[in-house]
Amino acid sequence: MDGDRSTLAGLIEACREAIAANAEHLCALDRAIGDGDHGTNMKRGCEAVYAERGELDAMPLPRALERIGMTLVMTVGGAAGPLYGTLLIEMGRRMEGGRAKDRLAHALPEAVEAVARRGRSQAGEKTLLDVLYAVQSEVLKQETPARIAAAAGMAARDTIAMKAMRGRASFLGDRSIGHMDPGACSCALLTDTICRYIGESQLA
Ligand code: ADP
Ligand code: MG
Repeated sequence: MDGDRSTLAGLIEACREAIAANAEHLCALDRAIGDGDHGTNMKRGCEAVYAERGELDAMPLPRALERIGMTLVMTVGGAAGPLYGTLLIEMGRRMEGGRAKDRLAHALPEAVEAVARRGRSQAGEKTLLDVLYAVQSEVLKQETPARIAAAAGMAARDTIAMKAMRGRASFLGDRSIGHMDPGACSCALLTDTICRYIGESQLA
């Protein structure tokens, strides 16, 4: 099924490629305001999910999302692993009947709130949550995948001017200002990858 543009396995492959291609950039962002491992962490997680893509593709989507979340918790590590893991696990648990697109809109806000609780964080604190809130807002407005991706990219860029209030970057205080948050960057990158894929496939 590799390369098939209409399966979950294809989407997993696209995400793995995007993270692998940008892993060094994500590490460089994390070197500036953290410990330099964000790209490595995300790459490790994506490789683990990629290894399970065959099984995941055969599962109902909600179960597959939960399983992906658990794999991310176990393999990404750092602060980002439990946060991305919570997002996917909660999405899977909260998706109910209907078309995938409607189920996503229903599940996303609660899953994003679960991430906020897990990170004890909120909007404007220079984290991947800033991107998730932007994505959630566009999804609820039923915007097109292209607009959702654009909003995610803008939200990641907006973290440059913010002072980090959570995670390792918060130790830098004002010196965190002027750098893009690595988690926000990976979140925008994955959103862009998923939106492009959904725009071209039957998953929507
Ligand atoms: P670590 O900081 O443990 O090295 P990573 O480098 O993989 O983990 O991930 C760092 C990213 O995690 C940050 O850029 C930020 O987006 C996100 N993050 C860290 N702490 C929090 C938190 N409390 N709430 C939300 N996001 C957070
Ligand atoms: Mg790090």
